[in-house]
Amino acid sequence: MTLEGKTALVTGSTSGIGLEIAGRMAGLGASIVLNGFGDSGQIECERQLLQEEHGIAAMYSPADMSDPDQIAQMVGAALDRFGAIDILVNNAGIQHVEDIETFPPEAWDRIMAINLTAAFHTICHVLPGMREADWGRIVNVASAHSLVASPGKSAYVAAKHGLSGLSKTVALETAEDGITCYCISPGYVRTPLVEKQIPETAKARGMTEDQVTRDVILAAQPTKQFVTAEQVAGAALFLRSPDAAQITGANLSVDGGWTAA
Ligand code: NAD
Repeated sequence: MTLEGKTALVTGSTSGIGLEIAGRMAGLGASIVLNGFGDSGQIECERQLLQEEHGIAAMYSPADMSDPDQIAQMVGAALDRFGAIDILVNNAGIQHVEDIETFPPEAWDRIMAINLTAAFHTICHVLPGMREADWGRIVNVASAHSLVASPGKSAYVAAKHGLSGLSKTVALETAEDGITCYCISPGYVRTPLVEKQIPETAKARGMTEDQVTRDVILAAQPTKQFVTAEQVAGAALFLRSPDAAQITGANLSVDGGWTAA
C-alpha cells in the first residue's frame, strides 16, 4: 500500500498523535500539510525532516482551527500547492478539566470550536474535490470520550460525541462516492494534552498527580497501559488500505479495552 500521489492534510500535526500520523503517511509517500501551534523553528525542522527522510513535499499552515476563515485559507493554500486533498485527518484538539458549574464558558466555546466545529468546516471544504476524484478518506480523531464520559470533561465529552455523530452523517452522505469517513477513538496516550490534564484532574478530584495517573488514567484501561501514538497512527494507516474501503461511519476504539468495560 502506497500513498504516492496522494496529499494528506493533518490538523494539529505539530505534536503528539497528529505528528505521528503525518510522519507515517509521509513514510508511505503522501505529500503532507502540517498544521498546529508551537515553536516556529521546531515546526520548520519537522517539516524539513519529513521531506528529507521520506522524499515527499510537506507544507505547513499555522491556521487556528477555531477560526473558520483561517481554515478556509489553509485548505485553499493546500489546494494551490498540491492540487487536491485526498486524505483529511481532523486531529487538532484541546482539553480543559473542571466541574460543570465552574467550567469557564470561553473554555467550552474553544473546545467546541477546535474539537468539533473545525471538522465541519474542513470536511465542507475538502468534499467537493474528493467527490470529483471519486476517492477520499476522512479520519476524525475522536476519543474514548466519544463513547463514554468522565467527570470534569463536559465540553470535551460533548464535542467528541458530536464528532462521532458528524462522522456517521458524512459517511452516509458520501457512501456511494468512493469516500469513507470514520473516527478513531484512542484511550489515554501520553502526549502534552494528557500531561496537562493530570494536574487539572488532580485539582478537580482532590487527588495527587500520581493517584490521577494510577487510579484515574490507567484504571480506565483494562490493559493498565497507555496507548501509544504509534498505535493510533497504525490504526489510521490501516484505514487507508483497500481492505478498509467498506469501513465507513465506524468508531474504531484503540483504548486498551476501556469502552468494553
Ligand atoms: P497534543 O496536545 O500533543 O497535540 C494537539 C495538536 O493540536 C497540536 O499540534 C496543537 O498545536 C494542535 N492545536 C491545538 N489547538 C489548535 C488550534 N486552535 N488550531 C490548530 N491546531 C491546534 O495532543 P494529542 O494527545 O496528540 O491530541 C491529538 C488528538 O487526539 C486530539 O483531538 C485529542 O482530543 C485526541 N485524543 C488524545 C488522547 C490522549 O490521551 N492524548 C486520547 C484520545 C483522543
